[in-house]
Amino acid sequence: MRIKRNHIVIAAGFLLLLLWLCCLPKNLFRGVPYSTVVESAEGELLGARIASDGQWRFPPCDTVPSRFATALVQFEDRHFWWHPGVDPGAVLRALRDNVRYGHVVSGGSTITMQVIRLSRGRERTLWQKFVEAFKATRLELRYSKRRILALYASNAPFGGNVVGLDAAAWRYFGRPPEELSWAEAATLAVLPNAPSAIHMGRGREELMAKRNRLLSRLLEHGDITLETYESALEEPLPGEPLPLPSYAFHFVEGAPKGVRTRSSLIFHLQLAVEEAVRRRSDALAAEGVADMAAVVMDNATGEVVAYVGNSSLERERPGRQVDIASAPRSTGSILKPFLYAGALSAGVILPRTLLPDVPVNLGGFAPQNFDRQFYGAVHSDEALARSLNVPSVFLLRKYGVERFYGDLKALGLTTLTQPAGHYGLALILGGAEGRLTEITAAYSGLVGASVRKNGQKSGWEVGQVPLWYTFEALKEVNRPDQLDWRLIGSVRKAAWKTGTSYGFRDAWAVGMTPRYTIGVWAGNAEGAGVPGLTGARAAGPAMFDILNLLPADDSWFPQPDGGIFADVCVQSGHLAGPDCPEIVSMQLPESALESETCPYHHGGAFTLPPTMEWYYRPHHPEYTPPRAAEKVMEFIYPGPAAAITLPHLSGGEEGAVFRVAHRRQGATLWWHLDGTIVGETTLVHSLRLAPAPGRHVLTVVDDEGETATVTFTVL
Ligand SMILES: [Zn+2]
Repeated sequence: MRIKRNHIVIAAGFLLLLLWLCCLPKNLFRGVPYSTVVESAEGELLGARIASDGQWRFPPCDTVPSRFATALVQFEDRHFWWHPGVDPGAVLRALRDNVRYGHVVSGGSTITMQVIRLSRGRERTLWQKFVEAFKATRLELRYSKRRILALYASNAPFGGNVVGLDAAAWRYFGRPPEELSWAEAATLAVLPNAPSAIHMGRGREELMAKRNRLLSRLLEHGDITLETYESALEEPLPGEPLPLPSYAFHFVEGAPKGVRTRSSLIFHLQLAVEEAVRRRSDALAAEGVADMAAVVMDNATGEVVAYVGNSSLERERPGRQVDIASAPRSTGSILKPFLYAGALSAGVILPRTLLPDVPVNLGGFAPQNFDRQFYGAVHSDEALARSLNVPSVFLLRKYGVERFYGDLKALGLTTLTQPAGHYGLALILGGAEGRLTEITAAYSGLVGASVRKNGQKSGWEVGQVPLWYTFEALKEVNRPDQLDWRLIGSVRKAAWKTGTSYGFRDAWAVGMTPRYTIGVWAGNAEGAGVPGLTGARAAGPAMFDILNLLPADDSWFPQPDGGIFADVCVQSGHLAGPDCPEIVSMQLPESALESETCPYHHGGAFTLPPTMEWYYRPHHPEYTPPRAAEKVMEFIYPGPAAAITLPHLSGGEEGAVFRVAHRRQGATLWWHLDGTIVGETTLVHSLRLAPAPGRHVLTVVDDEGETATVTFTVL
């Protein structure tokens, strides 16, 4: 019998051990919802959102700041660092006190036991207390003392809907827990014991007394000096809960819910950029431009270091909640540098190739420059710097819409939802939409591809030499007609580009230094256009303000090695031919050797085709027309074999204006439509005609008997 009893004892003991080993769930606080918390790269709090159960409960931390830890242990559980989860001395003391006073005055619970209680949320009965003690010893085996303290700090109630030390420090003192004073740490150490006291008038007196008793214990124990103790007594209790910091509002809105996110935003830069954008945006608001967004990226890492989804949230207006930095908007001219770099990389152009800038009608698409002028012929780098639309369209036609469309996708633009043909040549003039975040990233990738060596870049393949020429072209910032330079302080060196969408709805400016890329968008989130809203005027100043906030850096994109050197015609920018008089040796990508040789120099004379010449001459007095050209005149409108529709104009006038360029000033032209004379022109060769629908032949004859003919169809 004795042996059997021993067996029973052993079996019972074994069962108890098994029960003890398995009594804790894997995650004590499973299913508890947390606040969304977003921190800067340095760990500063940018903003937070309340947890799904309406509590301010920050995601748990693994450590507890030392002042709070010291105060808490001194107040709740003086033998915390030594006991195995249960403190027999404290239990005996509690029993004695409770018997003496006839009711429960002290629980004798250790911090470890309180962690168990917080995770179970049961009533406080003697049995529950026993269960807590049982499990507390097991918890001690699983976690370090510091970890147990952290579990307590993360889950203790601090009054109202404030749970956990982090949220309490911010809500009551407006600071992270690491920065609390001794008086503040002591207040929070005693608060979970009577969490409702902080909101009640009489409870506050008691709370103050408790805090001060704890402070005096800390003094006795040698944790604080007399001086600290005396000044701590002077500190008041916290008042109404404070609002949490709210920076990078839209970024925080978009952050993963219910977790703590360490972002790449740089705290001081974020605050300064928000302020700079606010100043510019508030000034523009008076002109009807309500919204502004900005993104700053580090080119070396590709990370976003400042993010303003929309400016000036406190300014009452519809649309301020919209995160426009990541909303698709019409791109205007902001994509032009990618075409220049792509065409250069592919050998379609050289850095300064002349591009046509003449009226053209491509299947009903008649691009205009911003100033509604034509310049005849413009060097490609200048066309980019001046953001001329017509040469860009000619370049895109040469490079290929499909190819450029593929480039944009490879650069990370996710907004090209239609096939390439849907956008056509308008793709380069804002026909597609883009997000400020993605466009800034694409620009940053350009710089990244040229300064980054770790291979982390977009799928876009472009050479170093073309990129360098692109930055050089974009460095030309001297455009006083578009940007009021008096509004901007000192201007740092940057490669930059602006864009304005159709109907003045979107103003863009993107600036690049070797280290950073800054993207700014201005307009109305609701979509309304504002006359005069241009990228340079509305977005440019904010972009330069942000540039001036960045660490001073005078370095410039280094001219890369590689490529080849070849002779280039200075006037045309093409590979030099045998007749080109002025030649320069240029560093070019290898693909340049496949590009076209100068077509404009014949026998020493620089000769443009008549239409280009017609628009080129007024801007280039040095241009001398050739004496014996093959072609003296050319139709500007319509183009060869064009299909045209006749617009119905106001005032009863009908028809289209047909135009011819003639090299010789003062020439007289006779116009024949389908063999019948219909008019005569001298200085300006334009004639309004309204031919019936169908196919027609139009011929002009000049006073020397030269002729030009065009066939066209009226739809
Ligand atoms: Zn030439």
